[in-house]
Amino acid sequence: MTKTGRAAVMTAAKKKLKIREYPLPKVGHGCILVRITCCTICGSDLHSWLGHRKTPIPIILGHEIVGQIVELGEGITHDSGDKPLNIGDRITWTIMDNCGKCYYCREKGLPMKCRYLKKYGHDSCQNPPHFVGGFAEYCYVTPGTCVIKTPENLTDEEVAPANCGLATAIAGWEAAEIRPLENVLIQGAGALGFYAAALAKHYGCNRIIVTDVIEHRLELIKEFGATDTINVRGMEDVEIAQAVFDLTGGFGVDAAMEVAGVPEIIPAGLKCLRIGGRYVEIGCVFHGAHFTYDAGDIAFRMPTIKGVHNYDTKHLQMAIDFLAMTHDIFPFKDIVSHRVNLDDINEGLRIAESGKAIRVAVLP
Ligand SMILES: [Zn+2]
Repeated sequence: MTKTGRAAVMTAAKKKLKIREYPLPKVGHGCILVRITCCTICGSDLHSWLGHRKTPIPIILGHEIVGQIVELGEGITHDSGDKPLNIGDRITWTIMDNCGKCYYCREKGLPMKCRYLKKYGHDSCQNPPHFVGGFAEYCYVTPGTCVIKTPENLTDEEVAPANCGLATAIAGWEAAEIRPLENVLIQGAGALGFYAAALAKHYGCNRIIVTDVIEHRLELIKEFGATDTINVRGMEDVEIAQAVFDLTGGFGVDAAMEVAGVPEIIPAGLKCLRIGGRYVEIGCVFHGAHFTYDAGDIAFRMPTIKGVHNYDTKHLQMAIDFLAMTHDIFPFKDIVSHRVNLDDINEGLRIAESGKAIRVAVLP
């Protein structure tokens, strides 16, 4: 008899996910069958569930995944860092499976834009191998994925959000070309903001300023290295910029990052830059996120503006290494604030949507 596994399946936007059983796939060459031990709910899972962006259905959402190897396909013996892989090992893996051979993979260094891209938690689960998302008991990891065996000193809940949140924050600071002793602004005290603050601290930044409208998040982010927090609720853009200028000797920050997913805050972020500063847009992973800005300001004040979507495979290894190095310094364990089991996934989504949680963990 074929073994089966359970998954929480989305069949329509905003509708409750339903638990379905699918047969486990026969493990092919270079593939891995993983028993999921933890998957955290990312902001982009919420965007998909709420219908903010086009999503194929039926779908198993969830891409911040960690689990144990149940079966190793032929030809796969080591992880991407060349550590041997065995049944029972705990691994995490990149959000994407990319071909490595197409125009974007090979010529332009943009594997996240691979022409044959597959993304965990983003593709339909209609056909075998079905298990291509994180809100399930199993996941089928395919050969174009960067797989990483995780260090034993980290918990599942510390590792899971690294796969999207932390790896993306690292890609963001890399795009911002952040340097020691610079002043930075982080717009948004969600999981990405927490990671961004910790990275800024680790890189030796001077002022690490964070804006948000939720007070308890602004409190907690101080433990991740934020030197100054501003609750921007009700503030005009010019007032926010003035507050940031006051903290940076009247010049503004060297680099800023939008990680709240709120297009309306981008003009304030751009205004907070010093002349020649760098701005990285990460949070708005949905279309229709328009904002208005004075192009004269862009010419006169000479900012560099970059977009970052997901990350390069190397950023996940950097994320895991960073966690292993600094988990005694920063309270990464506090990023998962709520937990549900697979049967209560709908409750988990509601908690995540309410903004009460930083990350909700789904524990099958
Ligand atoms: Zn994500």
